[in-house]
Amino acid sequence: MLLYQRHVIYKMSLYIDSSNITYGYSLRITIPDRKQLLKSAVREIVQKILLRNPKIAAAKLLHKRPDGRYDCPICIEPVSRLTNAHVEKSHSQILDELINAHPDADLHKMVELDIREHIKPGVKYVQCCAKCNKDIESSNVVPRWDIEEDD
Ligand SMILES: [Zn+2]
Repeated sequence: MLLYQRHVIYKMSLYIDSSNITYGYSLRITIPDRKQLLKSAVREIVQKILLRNPKIAAAKLLHKRPDGRYDCPICIEPVSRLTNAHVEKSHSQILDELINAHPDADLHKMVELDIREHIKPGVKYVQCCAKCNKDIESSNVVPRWDIEEDD
């Protein structure tokens, strides 16, 4: 007998109607387990907090083009948006380590721990396109800006 199901999958149908076309979709909705859910939630919240940081927003403007797009400082390609890449250790790795080290921490505590991890001395970031982001998170690239913790 299954006493505890980690992943609950719901199936639903989605129909989009227009004047003469009907599209039907069969969707599978999976409820993530606690660790997956915490990781996703913390990542989304901390990303939003960091993107609202004035220094980070100002640094992004340095790469803005007259046409509204951005020049990726790594590959020099014009792109619609720049991402913030973690140098050496990805956000996913940081979150895995934090969740494993603090298995009982709630959402609020995990957000605090993740932000503290982001502002630790020596942690570096690079603003770049999504394509360059993957390479940078596993290599050593000169950072464009640092985040400093207020006292
Ligand atoms: Zn790039």
